[in-house]
Amino acid sequence: MAGGLGLRELGGTGLKISSLGFGGSPLGNLFGSVKEEDAIASVHEAARLGINFFDVSPYYGDTLAETVLGKALKSIPIPREDYVLSTKCGRYGSGFDFSAERVTKSVDESLQRLNVTYVDLIHCHDIEFGSLDQIVTETVPALQKLKDAGKVRHIGISGLPLNAFRYVLDRVPKGSVEVVLSYCHYSLNDTSLLEIVPYLQEKGIGIISASPLSMGLLSGQTPPEWHPAPSELKVACNKAIEVCKAQGKSIAKLALQYAMRNHDIATTLVGMNSIEQVQENVKAAIEVEQGAKYDEELLKEVEKVLQPVKNLTWSSGRDEN
Ligand code: NAD
Repeated sequence: MAGGLGLRELGGTGLKISSLGFGGSPLGNLFGSVKEEDAIASVHEAARLGINFFDVSPYYGDTLAETVLGKALKSIPIPREDYVLSTKCGRYGSGFDFSAERVTKSVDESLQRLNVTYVDLIHCHDIEFGSLDQIVTETVPALQKLKDAGKVRHIGISGLPLNAFRYVLDRVPKGSVEVVLSYCHYSLNDTSLLEIVPYLQEKGIGIISASPLSMGLLSGQTPPEWHPAPSELKVACNKAIEVCKAQGKSIAKLALQYAMRNHDIATTLVGMNSIEQVQENVKAAIEVEQGAKYDEELLKEVEKVLQPVKNLTWSSGRDEN
């Protein structure tokens, strides 16, 4: 593998996954408009530099991200068995539907858009917006049938509230759900994912942590308008950006390296939409892999600014979840 990006085990799945993963939501224009050729070039560059994990969802850009990723995968410079492809079901441009019928159809549609015969991971997308009991009794069993049919290799769940993971994992048959995809809970401003790491490890669940730049709050650019963070958090992140800027440093690099330091997390998924971002992030990730010294002074200053909003989050999903 070029460049020295490490591979880590994803729980008990047997998958070996690059420590930095390619987040596909920007391909659906969630962070501003991206030209298709740039999106495809970013995917190819990521593969060339050793990223073997690509995550997407039919929800991103109302199927656009899957379609664009599918075009990129047609000519990706690595064989199908050498990359790990993850998509989701249950959340769509039109709303949520975790019924067996819809998710079964949804996987077929995703495979078509992605130009593949199977996906390695299928996540129930943002479970807190559905009935968690339905996820347990209907969605996961439907996905297991697709697993038996060879269309999906492993089943995961994604969402914001960490308790929703516990609710589902405590109730599904052992080994059925093998992965969680958590987001915005392991970054400079929020490390609450750590609270459930021992629980997940005890169950042998693979941990994917997404959004190390807190969905754009720590990218150094203006976050998207839809960003759900309370203004207090946005203001504090802006202050942190200013601290870095004043020293000519990149908050994105600091935030990514901070997130990647934890080896209990199999992979950190970052949304990327240009060759430059891919190159910058892979470089930063390799520094972490090689044990390079961090900018501890800058980290301390930034952590001080973010301390008043540490672990501050927002509500997501149904009240009962
Ligand atoms: P993120 O924290 O990765 O931030 C993405 C933003 O940072 C984009 O605007 C991107 O262009 C920018 N960026 C990336 N590298 C940069 C760099 N070096 N310098 C400056 N800016 C940079 O947020 P995300 O994209 O929401 O999360 C990553 C991925 O995780 C998603 O694309 C998606 O695949 C997955 N995810 C899943 C869920 C879920 O399942 N519910 C939720 C969030 C994210």
